[in-house]
Amino acid sequence: MGFSEGNRQRIDSRPQNWNCPVQTGQFESGKNYEFLWILPLQGYVPFGGQTFFFDGEVETEATVERHRERVIIDIKIKAKGEAACSRCLEKVELAFDNEFRYFYVSSFDESEKEAAESDEHTVLTSKNTTSIDIADQVWETLVMALPEKVLCREDCKGICPVCGSNRNYENCSCGESGRDPRLDVLADILSEKKPEDDRKGGTEHGGTQK
Ligand SMILES: [Zn+2]
Ligand SMILES: [Zn+2]
Repeated sequence: MGFSEGNRQRIDSRPQNWNCPVQTGQFESGKNYEFLWILPLQGYVPFGGQTFFFDGEVETEATVERHRERVIIDIKIKAKGEAACSRCLEKVELAFDNEFRYFYVSSFDESEKEAAESDEHTVLTSKNTTSIDIADQVWETLVMALPEKVLCREDCKGICPVCGSNRNYENCSCGESGRDPRLDVLADILSEKKPEDDRKGGTEHGGTQK
C-alpha cells in the first residue's frame, strides 16, 4: 500500500550542498563548455499537492556559451524518484528528464534588466561576474519535471470510495463508479434488473401455480 514521509528529510528548496559553479570569466566568447555534476538528493519534495520521494542523485549536464556579457546555459537533468498514484495510492517509480535554456545577463544593462524581469528563464548576474552558480536553475529544472498528476497507469481505476478496495485488483460489488454518469445509470439498471426479474419470475411462477 502507500508509503509515508517517515523520518525522511523534507526538501522545500534547492539543497544547500548543491554547488554548480561556472567560471564564465575564463571562457572564450562563442565557444561551448560542458559540465557534469552528480548532485545528491535524499528526502521528499512536497509539490503541487503531491509528495515526491528521492533517494539518490540528480545527474546534471550543462552546456555553457558566453557572448560577451551574456551567458547561455542549457541545463539538462535526469533523476529517479517515487510518488503515490493519485487515484489508488500505490507506489509509482518515476524517471524525471528535463531540459531548460537559461540566459544570464549582467544587471548593469537596463534593457537586459527589463528582459530578465519579464522572462523567468533570464537570470541577472552582477556586473563583471566571473563565476556564476547555476544550482538554483538546476533545482528549478528538476521541479518543473515533476508531473501534475501521478498515475500508476493511464487507466488506473482507483480506490472504491465505498469499501476502500483497490479496483485495479478487486471487483467489489458496491456498483458505484463515481466517474462517468452514463456508467452510473448503466450500473443502476444492471443492479436493479436482477431483483426485479426475480420478482417477475416469482409472480409468473405464482401465476402458473394458481
Ligand atoms: Zn493507481
Ligand atoms: Zn467497493
